[in-house]
Amino acid sequence: MDEAFAPTLAAAQARIAAVRPAVYARTRNSLQGAVSGLSPYITHGVVTLADVLRGVSARHALSVEHKFVFELGWRAYFRHVWQHRGEAILQSLHAGPLPDDAYARQLPADIRQACTGVPVVDEAVRMLYATGMLHNHARMWLASYVVHVRKVHWRSGADWLYGHLLDGDLASNHLSWQWVAGTGSRKPYLFNAENVARYAPDAWHSPGTVVDTSYDELDRIARQPASRAPRPLEAPPGVTSRVEPALGAEPPETLGLTAPDAAAVSGRDVWLVHPWSLGELPAALPAGTVVVGIFVADFHYAWPWSERRWHFVGSRMAVLANERWHGDATSIAAALKGARSVRSVAEPHLATWLPRWARCEAAPALFPPVDQRCDSFSQWWARASRSLDSAADLLAVNEVPAW
Ligand SMILES: Cc1cc2nc3c(=O)[nH]c(=O)nc-3n(C[C@H](O)[C@H](O)[C@H](O)COP(=O)(O)OP(=O)(O)OC[C@H]3O[C@@H](n4cnc5c(N)ncnc54)[C@H](O)[C@@H]3O)c2cc1C
Repeated sequence: MDEAFAPTLAAAQARIAAVRPAVYARTRNSLQGAVSGLSPYITHGVVTLADVLRGVSARHALSVEHKFVFELGWRAYFRHVWQHRGEAILQSLHAGPLPDDAYARQLPADIRQACTGVPVVDEAVRMLYATGMLHNHARMWLASYVVHVRKVHWRSGADWLYGHLLDGDLASNHLSWQWVAGTGSRKPYLFNAENVARYAPDAWHSPGTVVDTSYDELDRIARQPASRAPRPLEAPPGVTSRVEPALGAEPPETLGLTAPDAAAVSGRDVWLVHPWSLGELPAALPAGTVVVGIFVADFHYAWPWSERRWHFVGSRMAVLANERWHGDATSIAAALKGARSVRSVAEPHLATWLPRWARCEAAPALFPPVDQRCDSFSQWWARASRSLDSAADLLAVNEVPAW
């Protein structure tokens, strides 16, 4: 995976143009496979799922059942679950292999410092800290080791990973952890050293470690309490620890954010840009509209970010908005009070506040809405893709405006 994630629309469009769906379908499980690296851009609304599919299907004929479309579907499905379950996605959706209180609430230092001595885990943590990104398979391996081998509650692992990812999304991240943990799926996700050897480069291979065993044995480990779980080995000599990058609730000063400023918007039409709506501005904003970027401190205190992510989001926002505020919900609300009108794009990460301040347009969806709550991806997919054959049908059904 390319390590550079430039916070620009051009970078997102270049990644869309580079998608090779046939190679993707063949290689996506491999760490060196042809994955798109689009998730930081999708998470922050630089491009939408519809933009991605439109760009890819303009170059390659795609059926709705194509693996690439299916994976876009996973993101939409997790949002569907969030919409129906709300904050409940942050708790176990149902019982997993062990009761919630059988798991520790603290992520052990050797995992945080990438020195467990299990190469697949240590390499994943190093890559996460170095790039803010991880391949899907690496996320699954890391989460499975944390929960089932080390008996750490999925929520602690999910909160930690969310903070370090450039693409951290509460629905995709926390529900994927639940899927791995077995609290959002029928069985826990387990992996062994043979699986790692098939899909990862040599440095990740983990022969002779706790994961070098059979799936029956891994299943037994997942279902036995911590007291009987295998003890982590001392990391072998030569495994050097990493310093965990700090996560911050406060934006770096270099982003040039100011406190909410009522004078800047008094009597004006306002378009609010937020960290999840960093696409192009609407073409039809009334003349004289002030574009204001906001960071809601209440959210960031609950969910701190890495410096890399602050810069990714802050740099893109600076291109869109001259006024960029960081403040608590009360001070943002007070500053916006005197505006003539306030509009924005709806976003579940800000659902507690944004609808009180702005008339929100729905973010453009790719898949048709599924009103009935679906508790499995396959249930949701059957409804969302019903009577559609091609990606073009999918785009047509939602009549998404082009960029
Ligand atoms: C434990 C765990 C945590 C995760 N946390 C996040 C997260 O915080 N944010 C996030 O966007 N994804 C998350 N994912 C899903 C997936 O790993 C990433 O979306 C994917 O690795 C991003 O890389 P890519 O853009 O190259 O994906 P590609 O394979 O190129 O896929 C294209 C797009 O489809 C979507 N997508 C692909 N696979 C998945 C999937 N399994 N679930 C949901 N959407 C998918 C993403 O939007 C992605 O950008 C998580 C998965 C796991 C197992």
